Amino acid sequence: VPAPRTVEALTERKATYFLRAKKVIPGGVNSPVRAFKSVGGDPLFIKKGNGSKIWDEDGNEFIDFVCSWGALLYGHSHPRVQSALKSVIEHIGTSFGAPTLREVEFAELIQILVPAAEMVRLVSSGTEATMTAIRIARGYTGKDKIIKFEGCYHGHGDSFLIKAGSGATTMGTPDSLGIPKGFLQETLCAEFNNIKSVETLLNANKNQIAAIIIEPVAGNMGVVPAHTDFLKELRKLCTLNNIVLIFDEVMTGFRLSKGGSSELYSITPDLITFGKIIGGGLPVAAYCGKKEIMSYVSPEGGVYQAGTLSGNPLAVAAGIEILTMIKEDPPYNQLNNQAIFFTNELKYTLKKIGMPYQINQVGSMLSLFFTDVPVTNYANAKTSDTKKFAVYFNKMLEQGIYLPPSQFEAMFLSTQISDADISQTIEAFTHALN
Ligand code: PLP
Repeated sequence: VPAPRTVEALTERKATYFLRAKKVIPGGVNSPVRAFKSVGGDPLFIKKGNGSKIWDEDGNEFIDFVCSWGALLYGHSHPRVQSALKSVIEHIGTSFGAPTLREVEFAELIQILVPAAEMVRLVSSGTEATMTAIRIARGYTGKDKIIKFEGCYHGHGDSFLIKAGSGATTMGTPDSLGIPKGFLQETLCAEFNNIKSVETLLNANKNQIAAIIIEPVAGNMGVVPAHTDFLKELRKLCTLNNIVLIFDEVMTGFRLSKGGSSELYSITPDLITFGKIIGGGLPVAAYCGKKEIMSYVSPEGGVYQAGTLSGNPLAVAAGIEILTMIKEDPPYNQLNNQAIFFTNELKYTLKKIGMPYQINQVGSMLSLFFTDVPVTNYANAKTSDTKKFAVYFNKMLEQGIYLPPSQFEAMFLSTQISDADISQTIEAFTHALN
């Protein structure tokens, strides 16, 4: 029998687990945002997940809108993924550090779905994929600097933990201790959706930019889509200036469409990074793109990148299963329709209450920003009332709705979210905001 969900019960038990965790793991978590720092309180400790739901260590049930930060397109413990994993464990083995045909099959599947992926290399995390993508861009162009966009997250590589100072031409300042000064000079920050800010950086750093990396639909400042014209201009500028255009699709890849953002926007980047969904909840990611550029990767070319567990049989089996499901029956219309219905219901409730808000929704990714300013970049996103968000988050949690614990993260729908889940969430939402 699940324990009663009261604020006190939730708080007391979670605190015990968290105290124990903090004694042995820095901050009690293996990835910072899990610690609930920006919403207050202690994190849930999850015991299991099934379909659209997760259960904490005390048996409390939650509808899950985090979906392992977007990795679980088909929800938790999907039977097809489970049986693929079982079969590998029982009949194959867990790691060889040698080529397997299933890795080739997986790469071929990615290539079929995303024609821009002329060649594919598998790694174990999104961070590895983005770090390598810029190394290849540097190796290929012989240039050192890169441009990223304020508010975009590309993993925890030294080059990416930089945000813009004041103004687009300002040198970055690091978001983390331990970033060598030399790295700061190599990463320039432009404003998302502002092509002039990119042109300014290009003019001030002629023939020095190796790569421009962008989340085509940003999900790490909350959901903020890039305007199509902006991406088209980026493509033009990169071609003109011999700059490698990298779409970081670790979050958006196979979430928004079968063929990635290149299909969604009809723009072909030079390199693409994938992660999250392609591993179906297991650690696999990939970088891929133009053959001419990818052939710089070792052992074919001189850009070194390696990994003991790269192409791990379990992760590859889960990935093949997920991509096969997507290929057989793309779930994007269903997900999009459900997300639009959900968004409209939220808007209706917010209007009734008279609360200023913005909802950005792209396919099954959405964010509710507590601001009256339309959110098209990081500066707009930062106008959100994070205190209001924290209250809303905790009230939703008490009612069994697990949202990402930060204003600046995306909510994800999985295919397992039912109409009943949506109704329950809308009802909780109405109570949370009143
Ligand atoms: N790129 C984007 C767009 C991401 O959203 C993330 C993770 O959230 C990463 C890269 C890093 O991926 P990982 O956490 O697997 O290292």
